Amino acid sequence: VEFARTFYTDTTRSMALAEQAKRVAAEFEFGQEHVRKAVKEFIREMDEGLQTEGTELSQIPTYVTAVPNGTEKGLYMAVDLGGTNFRVCSIQLHGNTTFSLTQSKIAIPRELMVAKTSKELFSFLAKQIETFLKTHHEDHYFSTIKRRKTGDKVKEEEIFNLGFTFSFPVHQIGINKGLLMRWTKGFDIADAVGKDVCALLQAEIDELHLPVRVAALVNDTVGTLMARSYTSPGKTGTLLGAIFGTGTNGAYVEKLDKVTKLTKNKDAGEYDKSTGEMIVNTEWGSFDNSLRTLPNTPYDIELDEKSVNPGIQMFEKRVSGMFLGEILRLALVGLLKDPNVPLFKDENSSDNDVHSTTQIHEGTPLFKQWGIDTSFLSICAGDTSAGHRMLRQTLDKDYGISAVSAEDAEAVREIAAAVGRRAARLAAVALAAIVITSGRLDTLSGASSGGEVAEEDIIDIGVDGSLVEFYPGFEDHVRQALREVEEIGEKGEKRVRIGIAKDGSGVGAALIALVAGRVLEESG
Ligand code: BGC
Ligand code: MG
Repeated sequence: VEFARTFYTDTTRSMALAEQAKRVAAEFEFGQEHVRKAVKEFIREMDEGLQTEGTELSQIPTYVTAVPNGTEKGLYMAVDLGGTNFRVCSIQLHGNTTFSLTQSKIAIPRELMVAKTSKELFSFLAKQIETFLKTHHEDHYFSTIKRRKTGDKVKEEEIFNLGFTFSFPVHQIGINKGLLMRWTKGFDIADAVGKDVCALLQAEIDELHLPVRVAALVNDTVGTLMARSYTSPGKTGTLLGAIFGTGTNGAYVEKLDKVTKLTKNKDAGEYDKSTGEMIVNTEWGSFDNSLRTLPNTPYDIELDEKSVNPGIQMFEKRVSGMFLGEILRLALVGLLKDPNVPLFKDENSSDNDVHSTTQIHEGTPLFKQWGIDTSFLSICAGDTSAGHRMLRQTLDKDYGISAVSAEDAEAVREIAAAVGRRAARLAAVALAAIVITSGRLDTLSGASSGGEVAEEDIIDIGVDGSLVEFYPGFEDHVRQALREVEEIGEKGEKRVRIGIAKDGSGVGAALIALVAGRVLEESG
């Protein structure tokens, strides 16, 4: 078959195609010098964000001042409004680094993401909580019914403390109080901006008389950091929680005295100062919005112009799952529009012994905004088979492009790989900057020797999200770029441990609700 294909293919055509694919792939190169320059800029923006409000990296103080150590106990609820799904869960923390979790997950209806009023969205969320209680916690649901009939106040011990994982930028002014700064990831509900999202959710919960108190507001990255610390408490504690999924962001442990803008903020609520630390939510999705160091291809420009939030989340638009498929799509469409590029114009393609002309069927998602899903990039990166059978099948089944030749598939694969590699190298910029500023690289115990890194010298990072989980080789690309950063090098890269904290935001939110709930109970 391989021979037959070569025989039937016009070599001039395939050479021209390969050349064009190389040219486009090269547009996505983000080399060592670029990585280093971006790391410096990231460190500068981190510092600026700790001192001043309204900066590119928001550096949001989260009011969480300690990471867990695995001994925490109790039953808590958590809800998670992220990018794609809404999850409701209850979490039993066993206090021995393990937990059990009951959860239900529902795709957020598209129309709610761009609803006219925030009430539509939040009442939907409260109804999901009600359904969850009815199904999994009958006793609590029963107290709801009682309350509805009698109008009685619910007893303290019947109340569920709930951690609200809300994965958007929020200006926090307390552990369960925060004003929405802006929507991301395709959400756009104007009247919610500037409002306290905990109060919005609590109001809808109260309307249904549910025995649930929104005890903590948690970004998913903070939840991931907490979850990672609880489940794998290392000797030094986890440094950073990061999400590479629909969106991207990270939260890390900062020294309290560096968060100087907190003391300048008159609205700032109370927090425990005894640990000398606070988790900071970087909101790195908006790193370098002014494009001092980020790459900017014609595809990035077009994607941004046609997005619901042009000019912001510029880092996210080059890194996260919501956007990578679209970048690839724009690059491919660019090639298809050029009459001199033979992509998908093969008149004599072969698959086994059937020779047919490549066809792009009407209604192919290829020509629609957001038409290519990022999972397609994962398929491309994972399909190392000769002739890229998987990739061609996917093009046929999911994208209505049939009888694609192996050469065309290789062109698509090469461009897709370049988009994915660039995303991972950019991701490394954020990780590198935080690892460097943490100062953890500056100390090395005597316990590490040769190639072995001792437990106390590990710099632990918890990650979650579809991209890290499913994109083949994502971590390898990240590590390659980490080694290229002078301050890290091969030695430093070896000390970095990256561990998945799958669906960690639920457990993480429960852990924060635990601490926050105690404080709220005491204050009545
Ligand atoms: C949001 C962050 C969130 C990240 C990952 C971004 O779009 O701004 O708050 O942590 O997505 O879900
Ligand atoms: Mg999520």
